[in-house]
Amino acid sequence: MPSATPSATARPTETPQPTSTPSPTNAPPTPTPAPTATHTPTPIPAATATPVRARPTQPAPQVAAFHYVFPVRSEGKISYGRFHHDYPAADIFCPIGSQFVAPTDGVVDFVSREDLWDPGTDDPAVRGGLSVAIVGDDGVRYYGSHLSQVADGIEPGVRVSAGQLLGLTGKSGNAESTDPHLHFGISHPTTPDDWQVRRGEIPPYNYLRAWQRGEDMTPKLP
Ligand SMILES: [Zn+2]
Repeated sequence: MPSATPSATARPTETPQPTSTPSPTNAPPTPTPAPTATHTPTPIPAATATPVRARPTQPAPQVAAFHYVFPVRSEGKISYGRFHHDYPAADIFCPIGSQFVAPTDGVVDFVSREDLWDPGTDDPAVRGGLSVAIVGDDGVRYYGSHLSQVADGIEPGVRVSAGQLLGLTGKSGNAESTDPHLHFGISHPTTPDDWQVRRGEIPPYNYLRAWQRGEDMTPKLP
């Protein structure tokens, strides 16, 4: 190839290496100039034996380590507020059948494909109805409930990437008498039956706004 190599100039101290950006490859806004031909599909951080990539002393340019997307995709109207009743969470109102997508790369932690909620007993552990939770590579648990359907192949342990379909929104659980919405909770990783933590520990509002603007803002847990 006669073409000039794009990046090999004027970087005396740095060893040329295949510029690995930590964020996954599906961030649409910035088309990186694709310096190498090697295309690693999904960076799987810990599961496999990590090939040691020595990066001696680089003053790590402040790049967002994780990529985020708004957790609902819909052709209809989406609305949510800053406040949630009783505890921190967000009810994202949207038409039934809107897409609940992974807000960031991670691993599916919990799936409920059955609506076991009974208004008579109102067991808080099943108020979410059909639901999916993931634990992001950022160490944060993301929980979405009141779904009408869980996407095929979404099972605990399955790796998902930001924007991947987890399920369709609906009115399952104790949302049967409210406007259809996705209940979205951000928390520490926890056990699936720990409904008090999983339903939400911090208000998602500022993060939802940031992700809608295209900002990769990582939730800060208490
Ligand atoms: Zn809610």
